[in-house]
Amino acid sequence: MFLQSSISLLDSISPYFSVKSTKYGGRGCFANYDLTEGTIIHQCLLPLSSSIRRSFKKEVCEYCFSYFYGKTLKYKLMSLYFCSQSCLNSFQEMDIDNIYLQSLFNVENLFVKGLKRQQSNQREDEDKEEEMIRQLKQSENIELFIDEKWKQMEIECDLLLSKLKTKERINLIPSINENEYLDIKYIIGILFQMYKQDFCLANNNILSFELDLFEHLQLNDVAKVCAYPFLLYSYLKIYKFLKLSTISQLECYVNTSMIRSIIAKNLTNAFGIRSLDEPDGNKEFFGYALYPSASFFNHSCQPNVIHIRIGSKKVFQLSRNVEKDEELVISYTPFENIELEKRKQEIKEWFFDCICQRCINKE
Ligand SMILES: [Zn+2]
Ligand SMILES: [Zn+2]
Repeated sequence: MFLQSSISLLDSISPYFSVKSTKYGGRGCFANYDLTEGTIIHQCLLPLSSSIRRSFKKEVCEYCFSYFYGKTLKYKLMSLYFCSQSCLNSFQEMDIDNIYLQSLFNVENLFVKGLKRQQSNQREDEDKEEEMIRQLKQSENIELFIDEKWKQMEIECDLLLSKLKTKERINLIPSINENEYLDIKYIIGILFQMYKQDFCLANNNILSFELDLFEHLQLNDVAKVCAYPFLLYSYLKIYKFLKLSTISQLECYVNTSMIRSIIAKNLTNAFGIRSLDEPDGNKEFFGYALYPSASFFNHSCQPNVIHIRIGSKKVFQLSRNVEKDEELVISYTPFENIELEKRKQEIKEWFFDCICQRCINKE
């Protein structure tokens, strides 16, 4: 017991590597001893949360992410589609009292409802967004500006909720676009895991460890909002949507600091879910999944670790021999064979400059 508790959470991710500070800033994974090519250094059986884009929801299995080239999947549970009865069953086994299922169904219904009234509200919505972008660009302290906007949204929602009866709330739930839909589904997945950890007595949840690690992930919302100012408006809308619509069991988690941190943690930590068989350039982007224990790998355009998706499982395997204390690195982009300039463009999304040997040699 003593030994177990003295080992830090980050060190218990894998016997093959430890998470340590890097020389160039931030953390990274370093080999504990000499390792040989082909070694599987880490596996994540399930994502902590995942979200499939709405445009693919009938074609990509909600549970195992299988894709059958545009064919509509046959197994359906409310608004969710599965490739097989066994995936559908696995989803139900993971759920509790249909809380997760019902929550995702609500999002789908509210999205459709929003589409119907979107046209009348669209102009007003665009004006508000433009105004916020203008203010943000003029603000001297962007971080403070973002904090204040979150605070204001919290107050606005609390005020609304104090005045409204539950039935009246529905008309004030904002219309959302497809990207917001994708993020909201991911957020609900995390909220559901928190609920499961807090309220399920039979705590044999294999994702408990991942949820503990989730606490330690890096937040990147300020950098993201600086690069894409419209996102602040979008994030605040997501909060309002959740605050006014989340089902009672998960309501206790919907506060601004929690939702903001859940959003901020997906930005540079989530793995894209892409089609598996097509060549690099044709890989479809189906959505994304978060595996906290795999979030500590840094990027290199010359990785020594490949990551493979097998269904919803993620496997990390050495692509060459590695010496003790060498950093273990993966490629963040699925297009690692592209030329330098295009690579730089892709990597910009993660807010760092790659200093791998290939980039230094301008290859
Ligand atoms: Zn499946
Ligand atoms: Zn590089």
